[in-house]
Amino acid sequence: MKRLTSIKTRISIWYTTLMLLIMAFVLLAVGALSYRLAIDNIENDIKLKVSQISNKVGARKSFDIFHQVGSDEEFKNVSIYTETGEYVVGQYLYDVASVPFARDVLRRAKVDSGEYIIYDVFKPSRPGDDRGYWIRGAESVNYANVLGNSVFAIIISVIPIMLILTILGGYYITRKAFLPINGIIKTADNICAENDIKQRIPILPSCRKDELYNLSLTLNNMLDKIEMLIETEKQFTSDASHELRTPVSVILAQGEYLLELASNDKEKELAQSIVDRSNQMSKLVSSLLLLARVDRSRQRLAEETVDIGVLVDIAAESMKNAAESKNITIITNVPDGIICTADEFLLLSVLTNLIGNGIKYGKEFGKVEVSAVKTDYSTIIAVSDDGIGISEEHLDKIWGRFYRVDNVRNDEYGSSGLGLAVVKSIVELHGGRITAESTLGQGSVFTIFLNN
Ligand code: ADP
Repeated sequence: MKRLTSIKTRISIWYTTLMLLIMAFVLLAVGALSYRLAIDNIENDIKLKVSQISNKVGARKSFDIFHQVGSDEEFKNVSIYTETGEYVVGQYLYDVASVPFARDVLRRAKVDSGEYIIYDVFKPSRPGDDRGYWIRGAESVNYANVLGNSVFAIIISVIPIMLILTILGGYYITRKAFLPINGIIKTADNICAENDIKQRIPILPSCRKDELYNLSLTLNNMLDKIEMLIETEKQFTSDASHELRTPVSVILAQGEYLLELASNDKEKELAQSIVDRSNQMSKLVSSLLLLARVDRSRQRLAEETVDIGVLVDIAAESMKNAAESKNITIITNVPDGIICTADEFLLLSVLTNLIGNGIKYGKEFGKVEVSAVKTDYSTIIAVSDDGIGISEEHLDKIWGRFYRVDNVRNDEYGSSGLGLAVVKSIVELHGGRITAESTLGQGSVFTIFLNN
């Protein structure tokens, strides 16, 4: 069914049907015309011969010298009979001898041996006399029938050949014409699949400068513009984060200093708020910087041998206070000796991010569990919680930048919507992948697959 929806197939079906109808019409018309011409030829021939003999007979006014009236050639298909139907002279036409005479009428008669065209003329002995002679011309229409049948046979054998040529020729031409479209589709697919806006539609120097050539050029120009805009935006994010880093650090340091100097609860509360918010901003700026570096392929991996058990313990320890504030237990379940090659600092930030989310979106007195296993080809780390969970409709969107499931509630958690985007970027930078499974109200599992 899908094949029928392609423009190529529909065009092919359309012109093949049209071609078939035109061929059938033309060939049938040619066949009918040839048959008609053959019949006309026979009729004219008979009429002419009968008239010639009749004129000669009339000129002589003497019927006893018939044998001198015409040559064998002139008497071909013509014979003379008495008024009672007795054969006198000419080519004896056995097949139509029994057909009754009819004066000056060109007609067809079917006899045992086939169909004949007959033409009779009566020559009276004297004008007005009933006595006289019949001159009959008769010729079989078999020749015309054979001609008609031959034309029909040619039609039947020529149509399939023409049809095959039409289909093959048409398919070749449409395939060639549509090749650039395949290039456009393939490029668009690759851009989507590989997130690589640098790809362009291939334009061969030998290709025809037709509408599809112009379309390819236009799309490539458009991709140039989009790539430039994305590049500008990345540059802006990178520059802005860079510029913000120092002032945010200063605000944070001064907020902490203020917190130390605070002499009463009100001052402490204000200073704490400054520290919390600038901490949040500092994390946001770091995340934006890291994403900008990954986007521009500038983030390098400081790869080393990492003991996952140790890394998980460090991450769990760093999140201990946050977990205790919600009475959440962090369970680590990593067997000894799970080693892999990774950027320790970045992998640690992935784990703290996921454990942090498990706590942020976990229930009071709940738990967050981190487990890891090593298989032949990969290291698998899973972070699960029994928190609020994520509904199906949001599950594939949570990896997007600044995507938050519940904007109002997430403000309470001090969330930015960048955490999982950073996590995904780091995992993919390591050549791995991350998946999320969740049931609303029951909890979530985030699983990291590293290829070593
Ligand atoms: P945020 O800074 O908002 O936590 P993330 O990118 O880490 O940003 O997460 C995106 C959204 O996915 C969050 O706003 C939250 O709604 C949802 N989410 C992430 N982790 C969990 C989890 N463990 N349980 C429930 N929801 C989660």
